[in-house]
Amino acid sequence: MTKQTKYASRHKIKKDVPVGLYLLILLLCGAIIFVIVYKGKGEEIASEFKEPSTKQFSSSELLQTLENKFGLADGSLQIKTINHKKQLDIPVNPNKMDLTFANMIVKGEFETRGGKLISGIVEDGGQHLTFNVGTDTYEVKLYYKKPVSIPRKSPRYIAIVVDDFGGIGGDLLQGFLNLPVEIDFAILPGMPYSEETMNKAYEQGRETLVHLPMEPLDYPRQNPGKEAILVQMDKSEVEKIVLKHLNSLPLCSGVNNHMGSLATTDKEIMSYVMEVLRKKGKFFLDSRTSAVSVAYQIAQKAHILAFRNDLFLDSPDISNATMESKIERIKQISQNRNYVIAITHCHSAEKLKYLQDFISRIQKEGFVLKRLSELKEQEVPAII
Ligand SMILES: [Zn+2]
Repeated sequence: MTKQTKYASRHKIKKDVPVGLYLLILLLCGAIIFVIVYKGKGEEIASEFKEPSTKQFSSSELLQTLENKFGLADGSLQIKTINHKKQLDIPVNPNKMDLTFANMIVKGEFETRGGKLISGIVEDGGQHLTFNVGTDTYEVKLYYKKPVSIPRKSPRYIAIVVDDFGGIGGDLLQGFLNLPVEIDFAILPGMPYSEETMNKAYEQGRETLVHLPMEPLDYPRQNPGKEAILVQMDKSEVEKIVLKHLNSLPLCSGVNNHMGSLATTDKEIMSYVMEVLRKKGKFFLDSRTSAVSVAYQIAQKAHILAFRNDLFLDSPDISNATMESKIERIKQISQNRNYVIAITHCHSAEKLKYLQDFISRIQKEGFVLKRLSELKEQEVPAII
């Protein structure tokens, strides 16, 4: 821009100012007249403009929707008013969903009706959510239904996935193949024994997963391997890599993440991944390498069959003490629901021995081994 045109445009603005001012005065006059004419209705109109959705809020319709989504009987949810606060207790069936998922549903239902979440705390094994809807405050308590009276003899299930196949062959691989056929194998793509492991497992009727490498928090110090999903990738790069890995192991029916403590916390990246899995008809297991992983929720939103790891069996070590503490934890989890999902690794003969011992221990506790995808009856909650 030359000096001359700069000057010209400034000059023009100066000239326009009085016209703008007249317009403003005109508008103000109009507004004053409007307020005077509609004086009686003034307040009503103003509040409608401020909170458009509050008007549409109907607590009976909200309760009905929530009863529906939580699989509760009609009329079983009620709002009580205590100290000017509206309280709503929602029992959650742990066999259908967990509290985090329940929380997402409630938040979504309040927000679509103009509610605002003002606090959420975890307390007494439940979640307490507070919403403002217009001038009302709603306190919602989500809690697990008392340990579902699972008849003592009814089976409790455990699905075990062994991670990191692809790098082991020979006797060690054969040792793992000798494990009960309900144990799933997760195979890293592009490794020397990836295909062999998939084929041998498939022949046995064993379920396998593509163990998809994803970016960990301390990348590149920790290396998930080549062609991993990294958070700076765009949609087409992610799709290309996921497709390549899925196509290299076509007999695998599911996918879980290898590492990924960073990538699984990234909503966008996870939605790119899940879109490919949906198209290819694969289920997903969130290995839960991060406590704040969003992978499971994003998989649910993409309407694919999804699971979440409950615990790693071989972490921090493979001592007897670790095994006992894992068994205690599994018994604890199965008080609330009748299945548990666990992951372990195939790295060494010691880990194989540890897993063999673990399997006979857990079977003695009354648990029945199940393929991961066979848990779908228990796991999949009604989609939001
Ligand atoms: Zn892994």
